[in-house]
Amino acid sequence: MGIPFVDLKAQYKSIKGQIDKTIFEVIESTQFIGGKKLTAFENNFAQYVDAAYGVGTSSGTSALHLALTALGVGRGDEVITATNTFIATTEAISLTGATPILVDVDDDTLNIDPGKVEEAVTNRTKAIIPVHLYGQSADMDAIREIATRHSIKIVADAAQAHGADVNGSRKAILGDVTCFSFYPGKNLGAYGDGGMVVTDDGELAEMMRRLGNHGRFDKFSHNEEGFNYRLDAIQAAVLDVKLGHLDAWNEGRRSRAKRYHEAFEGGPVRPVGEAPGRYHVYHLYVVRTPERDRLLEGLAKREIGAGIHYPVPLHLQGAYKRLGLAKGSFPVAEKAVMEIVSLPIYAELNDDMVDEVVTAVKEILG
Ligand SMILES: *Cc1c(COP(=O)(O)O)cnc(C)c1O
Repeated sequence: MGIPFVDLKAQYKSIKGQIDKTIFEVIESTQFIGGKKLTAFENNFAQYVDAAYGVGTSSGTSALHLALTALGVGRGDEVITATNTFIATTEAISLTGATPILVDVDDDTLNIDPGKVEEAVTNRTKAIIPVHLYGQSADMDAIREIATRHSIKIVADAAQAHGADVNGSRKAILGDVTCFSFYPGKNLGAYGDGGMVVTDDGELAEMMRRLGNHGRFDKFSHNEEGFNYRLDAIQAAVLDVKLGHLDAWNEGRRSRAKRYHEAFEGGPVRPVGEAPGRYHVYHLYVVRTPERDRLLEGLAKREIGAGIHYPVPLHLQGAYKRLGLAKGSFPVAEKAVMEIVSLPIYAELNDDMVDEVVTAVKEILG
């Protein structure tokens, strides 16, 4: 029968009444831009992640660009991030005119390696973007220490980490600004594109709200140019309903992850590690094997959804030839991308389905 990699239909069915109602309320109100539903969601989501302010954006990518712009990042500046992230992270850096400085990652968690961040700091470094990859917080204590010592800003890319925490603190994963994506497949996903920037700095929040809304400070007054990076009211309404289910969905993902973990103890694949104290929300469940291509082929034959996140590190993408980083620059990430496979993980995946995936993996590699 097969197991899909994601199943957004199953989730919709479980909350259809609430979703349909809120969408039609927005249509009836004709308040498609801004309005009560947007404000409610911004406040509720900011509170959920333990930040003082939230500003909705049109995507996670625009959230990152908006955050960097508001922090004054621009031409001549350098911004450090991991080489094994989605290209949106570095696109946002380049959009400001700054240069992405890529670094290698930790072999166990595949999150950015703070030691490599330290080595990459120069007098041009303006910001660091730790990516909470796969739903697990990067080592924020170490990164904060480096950032403070060098007076560098932190823009956290939490596009995969809605609800993640460290030792019970959601605040612990935040930077000066933290950016979320509500792309449909994310742990909290819209019915289209969406994102949010959150911060504890009220002035910064106001600046981001202004810049994301054409730089206007009232309807037709602009002291600066900005962007149209607003979050639609219909998306905000959908997201506010889904936010009420997010903890349960994340718990569901974690229990599936635990079942996978236990099944794979002793082989034949090595799951990406969960560092101590991390509440990992498993946007992706990633395992490693040197026989990755054989595993993918076997899973495809059994109609079990799987993916590679991400198959080519950014320093080896054509788009970043100009950075001059040859093969061999980041050995940990380069080895990992040859071995990683993302297996299905979502709340609606039941135990039998997890067991079917496990059995398949063991048969294929056995
Ligand atoms: C999804 C994602 C983004 C981009 O978000 P969009 O909403 O698709 O623009 C940025 N960074 C990471 C790590 C992501 O996973």
